[in-house]
Amino acid sequence: MRESTQTVPLALHGGPKTVQSEFAWPIFDEREVNTVAELVRTGQWGNPDCAGLVAEFEAQFAAYCGTKYAISCVNGSVSLRLALMACGVRPGDEVIVPPYTFIATASTVLEVNCVPVFVDLDPDTYNLDPAHIEAAITDRTRAIIPVHFAGLPCDMDAILAIAQRYNLRVIEDAAHAHGAEYRGRKLGSIGDLGSFSFQSSKNLTSGEGGMVITNDDALYRTVESLRNVGRLPEGQWYDHFNPGCNYRISPLQAGLLIEQLKRLDDQTRQRHENGLYLDSLLGAIDGIRPMSRGDAPLVHARHLYMFRYDNRVFGNLPKAEFVQMLAAEGVPCSGGYPHPLYKQPLFQNRNWMCYAIPDSVDYTDVHCPVAERACSDEGIWIFQHALLGSRTDMDAFAEAIRKIQQAVNR
Ligand SMILES: *Cc1c(COP(=O)(O)O)cnc(C)c1O
Repeated sequence: MRESTQTVPLALHGGPKTVQSEFAWPIFDEREVNTVAELVRTGQWGNPDCAGLVAEFEAQFAAYCGTKYAISCVNGSVSLRLALMACGVRPGDEVIVPPYTFIATASTVLEVNCVPVFVDLDPDTYNLDPAHIEAAITDRTRAIIPVHFAGLPCDMDAILAIAQRYNLRVIEDAAHAHGAEYRGRKLGSIGDLGSFSFQSSKNLTSGEGGMVITNDDALYRTVESLRNVGRLPEGQWYDHFNPGCNYRISPLQAGLLIEQLKRLDDQTRQRHENGLYLDSLLGAIDGIRPMSRGDAPLVHARHLYMFRYDNRVFGNLPKAEFVQMLAAEGVPCSGGYPHPLYKQPLFQNRNWMCYAIPDSVDYTDVHCPVAERACSDEGIWIFQHALLGSRTDMDAFAEAIRKIQQAVNR
């Protein structure tokens, strides 16, 4: 038997941290600073026509994604709302969403007076499981919002086939997926509309901001009008045609995004490669299973590096305590959502503002076992900026997990 080396105490218990590096986000230098400083000096802080830098960034982002159009807006929640409105949903219509995502994927459905219908996850990807979608379709279903969770592409072939069969719109929630690819196409460009967020944690950021992309002329015209108080290009300044609002971003945000977009490809490549390397390291640890989409050709945006934790191999240590230990070792991580979205008070104790949801809908009856397990026991996230570290950092992440495993099994 190998002599047990002297055990190093966990960082949580006062021992040395396994990971020494610090991970910054956002990443910027004088180029961002100068861009914003110069804009401030011009005094052109707004552009009510969305011309100038806003239009320039939209053109660049559309070209980047390979779509005809990109329409910016204040955030990645409003972009979902505008996409839903453009799809022509009516009060009481149903929209299929996953239960393991940021609240906006479902709450924007409520905002347009529609009914979110939760469909469980594929246990290997934590994305919407196409095998469960058809059973959830009724004659009120109008759209599906697949979320490319963590930046891992959904099974778009299967989802598009179902959407075609039932004549449903597909809105890709690509808030985690800037620069990610599925079969050579950028995520967000595959469905009818794609929605992005530029909120401060996202892989492309200006602090706040959002974007809708599409190839469809009519959808473009509607979304563009809705984000600009219902104006249309052929109308005058005080002509309003659609029930839109002011959802415009400012040139200051666009200027930042133009600089940040220049960095995105290198950052995506680095996250993607570190992700594959971490897959090989963590996949070799008993009780840790990285998420996987098999061998479909893809670029993973790694907004999160996500893996499944099995506490039976970690002395029955609850996930929350494991995450606390891992964070103390210097790995930027989280146990993620505490509950699937349908467990939120918003759905469990529906208030008067959800008047468009029929009484027949009872969210206390909803159970998505894979999502529940992901929240309570299994799903762990390492944040995207940590994937911008070196290979040595990735080695240290794996070492931190092994250190905890040894400590709790002693
Ligand atoms: C961040 C996010 C959004 C929208 O975010 P905003 O903060 O409103 O920009 C939508 N969906 C998902 C999955 C997200 O993570």
